[in-house]
Amino acid sequence: MIAVLKNGTSDNQIENLSSWLRSQGLDVHISKGSTHTVIGLIGDTTKIDEELLLGLDMIETVKRISEPFKSANRKFHPDDTIINVGNTSVGGKDFALIAGPCSVESEEQVMEIAREVKAAGATMLRGGAFKPRTSPYDFQGLKADGIELLLLAKRETGLPIVTEIMNANHLPLFEDVDVIQVGARNMQNFELLKELGHTNKPILLKRGLANTLKELLMSAEYIMAGGNENVILCERGIRTFETYTRNTLDISAVPMLRELTHLPIVVDPSHATGVAKLVKPMALAAAAAGADGLMIEVHNDPAHALCDGPQSLTPAAFSDVTKAVKRVLAAVEEA
Ligand code: PEP
Ligand code: MN
Repeated sequence: MIAVLKNGTSDNQIENLSSWLRSQGLDVHISKGSTHTVIGLIGDTTKIDEELLLGLDMIETVKRISEPFKSANRKFHPDDTIINVGNTSVGGKDFALIAGPCSVESEEQVMEIAREVKAAGATMLRGGAFKPRTSPYDFQGLKADGIELLLLAKRETGLPIVTEIMNANHLPLFEDVDVIQVGARNMQNFELLKELGHTNKPILLKRGLANTLKELLMSAEYIMAGGNENVILCERGIRTFETYTRNTLDISAVPMLRELTHLPIVVDPSHATGVAKLVKPMALAAAAAGADGLMIEVHNDPAHALCDGPQSLTPAAFSDVTKAVKRVLAAVEEA
């Protein structure tokens, strides 16, 4: 349930109403937007009398929210959420360009890529240290050493780092990581999501291979229900009957999510296609569809990458994509 307050309602009135609502066993979420303040009520609102609320001077409207996701719902928080990460941000006007290798492989590799993607305009560095591989015999990542190498690259370039967590027990290793990624395979690892909800780190939550947008938003809700509202959603393609591409990029997810939620939305055209030459057209499509950013795999030697070489761009190709994306963003702004 949400209550939209009349313009001019004082902080004192808001606090009085909130404490009464809390005394009714509800969690209260206050969103002070550019035009209105919205009070979101979370919990069992069946006992709350709408007429009683409407009778209060300060209340303009009261609405019941039918969707099962509440904190992530745009109705609770009409303005876009902007998540600050180091000296950059995701959501709002800034366009995030998250780039780097699928896996951190060595100091030389990650340092060279970090320098090159930064020069090409990346705003964050990605790199897998704990890798969710389909085969247990494939490279599983450098683990804690991989995170150390990312931190080294962060120190040298100033780029905030994004890396995937697979096990909540590893959280102490992520202390200096700027954005913790939850991969597609863990989107519904609810125990992991709950633990991340107790941190204050930005979480990049990837859509599961066969999950609906509602399920993605319910997973975001798990993190937010624990108190961590810093969730970035990531569309990375879903599994369909098509086999020429690794997955099928659901571009319509971007405007659909935009309507449903206030959380920032980034698109990963690398895992969505699995094919390096499809990354640029899909990146442009994502920018045109209104995404808040892109996450793109870049490798200095794609042919010898330990993971996901066929979908990795060279730094030069990434630089070409960033320039084209900027042109699309400018065109969309004018349109
Ligand atoms: C990744 O980003 O490295 C990754 C494993 O992606 P996904 O979880 O989307 O497959
Ligand atoms: Mn990958």
